Amino acid sequence: MKRKALVFGCTGQDGTYLSKSLLDKGFEVIGTSRKNKPNLKRLKTLGIDDQVQLICCDLEQFTQTKNAIEKFQPREIYNLSAQSSVGNSFKKPRETYKSIINTTINILEACREFKFKGNIFFAGSGEIFGSTNTAADLNSKIDLRSPYANAKYQSFLLTKMYREIYNLKCETGILFNHESPLRDENFVLKKIINRAIKIKKGISKELILGNITIKRDWGYAEEYVEAMQLISRARIKKDYLICSGKSYRLQDIIEIVFNKLGLNWKDYVTISKDLFRKSEIEESKGNPQAINNDLNWKATTDIQTLIDILIEYELQNDK
Ligand code: NAP
Repeated sequence: MKRKALVFGCTGQDGTYLSKSLLDKGFEVIGTSRKNKPNLKRLKTLGIDDQVQLICCDLEQFTQTKNAIEKFQPREIYNLSAQSSVGNSFKKPRETYKSIINTTINILEACREFKFKGNIFFAGSGEIFGSTNTAADLNSKIDLRSPYANAKYQSFLLTKMYREIYNLKCETGILFNHESPLRDENFVLKKIINRAIKIKKGISKELILGNITIKRDWGYAEEYVEAMQLISRARIKKDYLICSGKSYRLQDIIEIVFNKLGLNWKDYVTISKDLFRKSEIEESKGNPQAINNDLNWKATTDIQTLIDILIEYELQNDK
């Protein structure tokens, strides 16, 4: 019989890559969406929309969550479902909290009641460290600068508590920014590349951005879902940072993208104070040493290669 994995939030960027990776490893994948008619765009892009068993499950409803776990009795559970935009979390704090904290407690409680013996992985966020002067690790100070970071930290604490008190095999992978062709259009790298291509084609004249002096630790989503599985299957249960250990200034990335398209970014980019966050994180960088040492995982796609992958995809798909 095939091993089963239950992927909550399987229609998103990471859910889609994770489902593909699990299918490739011979798992039967049950994926959830909150919607009766889920957005299959990403699953179709990877050609797995007919291989994932899609079910409708509102994780904010305890009974639905418990029923899904009881019915399928998976070996592994991954929770990737969330309102995942930091920017949106300032506009929708209540939705962000509910989509992160209520779902975490529902999964943990369902697993506790059901005496679930499998592995349970939660997607955390490097946003919990705020601005990092040196690369963050699990001992770094917590500095919550958005409703999103706040909710992810509560989810992290809940998961740790259920591991320590109830002996559930659950852990958080504290993810730093990771991108891919499947990333939602609202996220900044995708926005920059889409618009730069439109400018190159003469369809658009301007790219309006917020603070471009910020630095982020950017990686490739396809690799990060491998780290999630290693953490989930590790014999010793603990939390890990999933990051590249390098940070890049957004302005430098803009320059690389425009240069690759033969354009000078200064001719097209306008800065709008309206797009600055209420509480900005100047630099976010993680230290990947623990996951590298313990689980032999390392981010290998550098920023130049990542940008090439994203530009190539957009050029082929921007009709
Ligand atoms: P994503 O593409 O936005 O996918 C998340 C999925 O969650 C959506 O497809 C949606 O699926 C579901 N969802 C549940 N409640 C939602 C709500 N209120 N609003 C919007 N969507 C909601 O996210 P991702 O990039 O794959 O990230 C996966 C997980 O990693 C998330 O928990 C995210 O917070 C975390 N993370 C991501 C990054 C990153 O750089 N990508 C960094 C740190 C942490 P349905 O509509 O089908 O239900």
